[in-house]
Amino acid sequence: MKKARDPRILANITVGFALFTIILILLAGRVLAGVDVFAHGEVYQGRSFMVFISETSDTPTLESVRDASLVFDGKKIAFYPYEKGMRAIVGCEPEKKPGEYPIEVKYTDNGGKVNLREISIMVSPKTYPKVSFWLIPSKKKLLAPALVDDEWGQIEKKLLDESPAKLWYGFYLRPVPGITTMPFGTREFVNGKPRSRHRGQDFRAQTGTPVAAAHNGKVVIAQFFKAFGGTVVIDHGQGINTLYFHLSKIIAHPGQEVKKGDRIGLAGSTGIASGPHLHWGMSVHDVRVDPMQWVETVIP
Ligand SMILES: [Zn+2]
Repeated sequence: MKKARDPRILANITVGFALFTIILILLAGRVLAGVDVFAHGEVYQGRSFMVFISETSDTPTLESVRDASLVFDGKKIAFYPYEKGMRAIVGCEPEKKPGEYPIEVKYTDNGGKVNLREISIMVSPKTYPKVSFWLIPSKKKLLAPALVDDEWGQIEKKLLDESPAKLWYGFYLRPVPGITTMPFGTREFVNGKPRSRHRGQDFRAQTGTPVAAAHNGKVVIAQFFKAFGGTVVIDHGQGINTLYFHLSKIIAHPGQEVKKGDRIGLAGSTGIASGPHLHWGMSVHDVRVDPMQWVETVIP
């Protein structure tokens, strides 16, 4: 009669297998860095959201994750170091149709392997107002698309030139105290004809009202344009810029490092403007987003 297997041998086999498994898990942890990729589940049209690459294990190995980028809406966006991981800030166009969209994330891990991950984001609808206004004929000719495109091209070049250092922290400052006269995302009808959406926040501001830098940064544009008038653009780092249009006087100069609240110019109605106001814009990797989100909530 066959004897049953010695229970001691069985126990040894079980312990051996368990040890082997633990060693495998530890090795895998070292090589794969226990990386997790995730985004906020939802973003409203015209707003900003964040995507993170973070550590899932207790062993901090993420510093060796490099060359991280993502593609959303056909645009490649860089990640930058953030706390113990990496982060990308993404702007959602106000015209983006509501629905679920893929985000393709690519990074090189500490084993030198290029990893691809696909996550998704839900774009939720946001209602923006409509407004009609009239421009005086002398300024109407400034609406020539070629002129606007040419001037915008000069500004856009600076928006695309990203600097890795993050110069802001916490809430952004509303640059003038006046009430909002036209919110971000408003559909404009000029002299009865539909134009693109309003890509900034307009505040009531008499000519000569001091305009403050919304946060710490470096001035990359400080000059007069025909369409945008007196213009200042501040680079806050990592692809985030704020824009100030229609200034009557420019105080800041290109290359200047400004602190949150510093006076950068005086409000006015230069360029295409139906009256004195400040047009304040926010650019996230060259996508104009709702700047008030950055005032009302912290994007750290
Ligand atoms: Zn405006």
